[in-house]
Formats: sequence, C-alpha cells, structure tokens
Amino acid sequence: MEERRVEGWAARDSTGILSPYSFTIRKTGPEDVTFKVLYCGIDHTDLHQIRNEIHMTNYPLVPGHEVVGEVVEVGVSVNKFKVGDLAGVGGIIGSCGDCSSCKSNMEQYCKDRIMTYNGVDTDGNPTQGGFSSAMVVHQKYVVMIPEKLAPEQAASLLCAGVTAYSPMKQFIQSDMDVINAGILGLGGVGHLGVMIAKAMGHHVTVISSSDKKRVEALEHLGADAFLISSSAEEMARAADSLDYILDTVPAVHPLESYIQLLKVHGKVFIVGVSPKPLQFDSDTLILGKKSIVGSLMGSIEETQELLEFWAEKKLKSMIEIVKMDYVNEAFERMERNDVRYRFVIDVAGSNLN
Ligand code: NAP
Ligand code: ZN
Repeated sequence: MEERRVEGWAARDSTGILSPYSFTIRKTGPEDVTFKVLYCGIDHTDLHQIRNEIHMTNYPLVPGHEVVGEVVEVGVSVNKFKVGDLAGVGGIIGSCGDCSSCKSNMEQYCKDRIMTYNGVDTDGNPTQGGFSSAMVVHQKYVVMIPEKLAPEQAASLLCAGVTAYSPMKQFIQSDMDVINAGILGLGGVGHLGVMIAKAMGHHVTVISSSDKKRVEALEHLGADAFLISSSAEEMARAADSLDYILDTVPAVHPLESYIQLLKVHGKVFIVGVSPKPLQFDSDTLILGKKSIVGSLMGSIEETQELLEFWAEKKLKSMIEIVKMDYVNEAFERMERNDVRYRFVIDVAGSNLN
C-alpha cells in the first residue's frame, strides 16, 4: 500500500480554467477505501469554487464532489467494501465524529467537516476532488452504489440529488392530503428535485426564469405545473399555493416574489448559493408564519437512502455525459444555463493516466 500518483484536472487561479494536474494521494489507511474514479458530476458549486466566488479557494484546486468509483484497495479494518464494489462520495469526506451534528447523523453540519475538495485532510494535505483518476476516503464517508443503479446515474445523486431530498424528507410522513411543492430553478439540483418530489407523491410546480424548459418539465420530468417567474400575472395567480419551495437559484434574486407563493406556514428551503446577500421584507414572513430555511447537501445516511429510493422507484435523471477535455466548455455552458440538466464526466473514459 503505497502513496499513489494520480492524474486530475485543476483550476490554477480565479479564471477557473482547468488543465491537467498530477498529484499524490495518501496510501490506503486501515479505515480507507481507495477507488478508481469512473464518473463525476459537475455541480454549480464547482463553478462557484473554481472562480473563488464563495469560501476562499486554494489553488491548484481539483473539483468534483459527485464521485462514483470502483474500489481498488481497502484498508485492513474496512468491512463495508471490497475490491470491485462501486462506491460513491459526495460533498464531505470527514467530520469530528463527536459533536451533536455528528452524533445525530447530520455530519454535514459538523464545524470540523472536511469538504471533498478545498479542505484540509487529516494528514494536513489539501483535499482534491473527483476530477481525478483515483481517490482515497475514510469508509465512513463512502456510500455503496446499489447494483440496480447505473454508475453514471448515481453520480449526480451524491450532491445535487441529496440536496433536494434532505429538506423534502421532512414532508414524507406529513399528514397533509396533498403537498404542494415548488422547485425554483430547473438545473441540476432542480430537475432531480422535481423527480424526487414527484416520487414522494407531491404536486410539483416548477418556477423557471423563462419558458424554454416548459415542455421538458411537464412531459419528461413529470411536473404538474410550470410558472415563469418574470410573469407578474402568473405569479400573482399562484399566490398562497405552495407548502414549500426548493430554491436552487445560484445568483441574487428577489425572495419576496417567491415567499408570496407560499401558504401560511410555508417554507423556502434555500440551497442555491448566492454570491451576494439576499434580502426580504420581514412582513412577508411574519404575516404568514413563513420560514426561510437553509440546507446543506444531506447526511451519509440520507445519501444511501436516496440511492436506494432512486433505484426502487426506477427514476432516471437527464444527464449529458462528457469527457474531461470538455470540462471548461461544460462550465461555460452551465454558466449560460445551457445544460439539460447535469453534466457528468466520464472520468475513466477520459484516459487521464
Ligand atoms: P444549475 O444546474 O446551474 O441550475 C441552476 C438553475 O437556476 C438554472 O438552471 C436556472 O433555471 C436557474 N438560474 C440560473 N441563473 C439564474 C439567475 N441569475 N436568476 C434566476 N435563476 C437562475 O446549478 P445547480 O448545480 O443545480 O446548483 C444550483 C445552486 O445550488 C448553486 O448555487 C449551487 O452552488 C447550489 N448547491 C447547493 C447545495 C447545498 O448543499 N446547499 C448543493 C448543491 C448545489 P431556470 O432556467 O429554470 O430559471
Ligand atoms: Zn462533528
């Protein structure tokens, strides 16, 4: 068990342009799972990160936190995985194990969480993500990809999917007759959100910035209704109709107009990261006992649960598979809102080694 030289693609500065980069990963420790990366999804957070738009980015930065791989080596104390298994890693690869978040299966909220990239690993080295040929991760932060699930399908569930699933889950056991869901922003997270909410039996309204995705939303993704956020008339007609909104917008946007869509007691789950502060009028919350709630990805337990749920419901996301040398163009297209609906990199098929 030696340190491994791996080949990845890294951003070097805030232009965010990625190019080949080789680095070493630690040897497989007793609790570690080492895997060859097969597929890795591209999340909008990767775009925020390579451009240094949120948390301070340390360069060179190898992004990628929707990683599916084939296990090539396991540590002596690993019992959950064996060589040849399909393994998945999402947004975090470590946490303290001791705090109240960790002890209640919400380790993503641990103050000492280790992000999959742009973090500092237990050995003091910077963490690097799944735009690389191999990774080594403590078994606790690795999920098992169900046999019935194609690895390229599993990738985007590991961050985008569970980001939608985790806040929605609290409605599963609700005694409401019909749960009226709003999905704001039909991108990677949003399109999985539509499918997950539908599979949970919710009535789903997509709230989109234009008419371009209407047919796909209603006919391919199974949404029940489609609202264009710039149409004051449509928005007024939909006032007081939703129990929750999953807000995936990656930019500054006027919260008021969306809060008005909520019924009394309704919730906006903010998962989209706005590079600048959002504003809202306190009255819009107070007068309807409404809440704005933040949510970060999902726990390891929820991620495993979602993978099983997805396989059991036989859901199929809409992804575009690309090779690593297309990654800069993929980011540009994501920025232009020109992806239906998630890029997944065929890492193993990109001949990085
Ligand atoms: P994405 O694929 O780019 O989708 C974002 C969608 O938002 C777009 O498809 C578009 O949908 C809408 N949109 C984009 N720019 C907009 C603008 N300026 N104003 C209004 N609407 C706009 O991104 P994603 O990968 O789904 O990620 C979405 C956000 O969630 C990002 O900020 C990402 O960092 C964040 N995220 C957070 C977590 C978490 O744990 N909280 C996890 C994953 C991702 P329409 O065409 O329908 O308008
Ligand atoms: Zn902790």
